[in-house]
Amino acid sequence: MWVCAACHRPWPCPRRRWELLGEYADSPGELALHMAAQLTAASRDLHWAAPAVLCGRFFGWLP
Ligand SMILES: [Zn+2]
Repeated sequence: MWVCAACHRPWPCPRRRWELLGEYADSPGELALHMAAQLTAASRDLHWAAPAVLCGRFFGWLP
């Protein structure tokens, strides 16, 4: 549940962030939309987590 399957760190882990930046290198706007959708889903599953913490986790690393 929102943990990286490979390294068991909170998703998106540093490696996954790096991969996403590569996958969306030509369309950073789509990456932001993708992360917004992920954040919406995660906030349902992680309803105990502080919204500001989730925002930082899903958006704090975007360029
Ligand atoms: Zn990982």
